Amino acid sequence: MKLSIHLQASPLEKTENPVQLKTIQGLAASFKISPTKISVSLYFQEPQTIAESRWRFGRLMTQIKALFKLESVEITKGRSVSQKLYEALALDLKSKGETKIVSGKNIDQLEKLAGYEAGFRQWVDEDAQERTSLKIAQEILAYADQNDQVDAFVLDDNQIKDLGMNLLMAVGGASKKSPPRLIVATYGSPDPVEAPPLMLVGKGITFDSGGINVKAYENFVSMMKNDMGGAALAWHLFKALAESDYPQPLVLVIPACENPIGEEAMKPGSVVKSHRGISVRIDHTDAEGRLILADALSWASSLYQPKEIFTFATLTTAALIGYGPFATPVHFANPQLQKALTQSSEEVGEDLHFFPYRIWHQEANKDHEADLKNTASLSSHASRGAGSRNAAHFLIHFADAPLTHFDIFASTWDWSNQSPSGTSQGATGSPFRSLYHGLWHYAQLID
Ligand SMILES: [Zn+2]
Repeated sequence: MKLSIHLQASPLEKTENPVQLKTIQGLAASFKISPTKISVSLYFQEPQTIAESRWRFGRLMTQIKALFKLESVEITKGRSVSQKLYEALALDLKSKGETKIVSGKNIDQLEKLAGYEAGFRQWVDEDAQERTSLKIAQEILAYADQNDQVDAFVLDDNQIKDLGMNLLMAVGGASKKSPPRLIVATYGSPDPVEAPPLMLVGKGITFDSGGINVKAYENFVSMMKNDMGGAALAWHLFKALAESDYPQPLVLVIPACENPIGEEAMKPGSVVKSHRGISVRIDHTDAEGRLILADALSWASSLYQPKEIFTFATLTTAALIGYGPFATPVHFANPQLQKALTQSSEEVGEDLHFFPYRIWHQEANKDHEADLKNTASLSSHASRGAGSRNAAHFLIHFADAPLTHFDIFASTWDWSNQSPSGTSQGATGSPFRSLYHGLWHYAQLID
């Protein structure tokens, strides 16, 4: 069955002989159905944001797919329908491989963006037994081999140990399947003095069992292959920017390993000396993401002296509990970056929320036995909550440059089975679009 979708800027009354179906509030749809083709006219009742339209469109597509087996999908728009809305919905179809035909403007650009977003989703959805630290390293090295613009190298566990990245070793040292690797790629000849880069750092926990503080809920554990979402996002973003001739030099840094259970796994209560020399008490082995990021940030930011750092991580469950299933809390963005990302996220229909630096969240990471602990809490009755903010402030202790942190725990995985991108399970591809367009806007602002 072929599906042909047409977006209309006006109500549907003018359509000839429509089968009117008002399934989703705020969205009117009329259907014409033949044995081989379904034609749907859609009208989004105003006012609504692109995020809301994407969500409604995703629900409608789920209903259509429950009724018909679709071979191909095409989408067109009426003249006065916004180009941004059209692109957002076309990309939702395209990045899931559901359409071969996307008519309209910017097709080449959409095809490319769909490819990066699909790649990001595929990495996150892949079986954790396959998508190991070794495979991540191998793919990035292979890409760099084929591309003159990009160089890459990988530090293995012996080098990581020799360099004193004991937090990264503590987390992944017991894994044979997915041992610690630190993967670095560069674009645009970054140089600490001549060309200080923007640094993209992604958390690559290829499977998170929780460690000895093992995760309690069985259905939750089965999703923990998604804990390398930050690495997948950072890499596909890096690639997208490099391939579109981004005007700033870039450095990609991915600390990758599994967080395993076992005799050799890190023990709750251990105090570990980080690469930076700061001692950290492992209060909980499931708060491992900030540990591997800390050593990666410390080593890479002192080596490259970046202009700015962006960290991407499925860092805290608190991001989902606090802000809901599609939200990305963004910590410490400077005003220009916040402006660029606000605009891009509204245009592509993603849900970013901005949080500033506060000294009490930084202090919340201090420990009685070591310099820091990996489970921050505020004092007294305020102790619960704020997990995403506390974790973000932990990272600042280890960075040599201003840092903006994206906690993508809630947005990168479809926890509600109703993501605005129209996925009904697994990886969503969010917030790739906001970041790609936002960093392009931002490059113009800081040039
Ligand atoms: Zn964890």
